[in-house]
Amino acid sequence: MFESLQALPLAVVLVFVFVIGLLVGSFLNVVILRMPLKLMQDWRQQCRELLELKDSVTEVEAAPGLIKPRSRCPQCGTTIAWYDNIPVLSWLILRARCRVCGARIGLRYPLVELTTGLLSVWVIAHFGPGPEGLSALLLTWALIAATGIDFDHQLLPDQITLPLLWAGLIINLNWGLFASLEDAVIGAVAGYLLLWGVFHLFRLLTGKEGMGYGDFKLLAALGAWLGWQLLLVIILLASAVGAVVGIVLMIVARRGKDIPIAFGPYLAAAGFIALMYGDALLAFWLYP
Ligand SMILES: [Zn+2]
Repeated sequence: MFESLQALPLAVVLVFVFVIGLLVGSFLNVVILRMPLKLMQDWRQQCRELLELKDSVTEVEAAPGLIKPRSRCPQCGTTIAWYDNIPVLSWLILRARCRVCGARIGLRYPLVELTTGLLSVWVIAHFGPGPEGLSALLLTWALIAATGIDFDHQLLPDQITLPLLWAGLIINLNWGLFASLEDAVIGAVAGYLLLWGVFHLFRLLTGKEGMGYGDFKLLAALGAWLGWQLLLVIILLASAVGAVVGIVLMIVARRGKDIPIAFGPYLAAAGFIALMYGDALLAFWLYP
């Protein structure tokens, strides 16, 4: 399969990857929207079982699955036809409104689709259409989903971070695609412990909790993918971007400095940069 892909002109491959990326982005929109609903439903259900509330409280409303049912307009409930569900294009043609009731469709939907399409092209242009490129695509897509969910809910689901960690170890197990197995295992453990340490130090000094356990798991996953050498690069990049965005938000949106801002999106963005240019950054850092 890789040979036949590599035989095609790169431009053709990249157009193909862009279209696939748009479609995956459309699916990631569904994941970002529905996965937290499903998780919260499960947690409510578990609490009810623990408290033995089974018969006394009305049934928890079922959350939609990731595949079914098909997407509906949140305003009028009409199932969205396939021709109104084409990534980016439908949003433009419908001018950001539902065809039936005219309710506004948020900019974030085409934005996630376009971002996924463009990042996918970037990844394949950088790594080529081989095992490395395809693995990097999976990591990139998972990071986009994690970013969206953390942005909305200040929550990084175990259902994303933990499989991502195992996947990183497996990918480096035989192939050593991005790091040796040794560096990957140390990266996973050190990634978790590093932020865990920062978290407890921060709490000891300020009495506040600056991050969540999901952040530790995400950095552990990135360590498993990229090796321990890139952990500090990731943390520095994430903190730098986080500080800039935080200050801008405080000035522009007059957000109080005590309102928690999810750290996950910055970690994910830094992880992506480290995936693409980590080796160059590391070389620059070690041998300036
Ligand atoms: Zn509608």
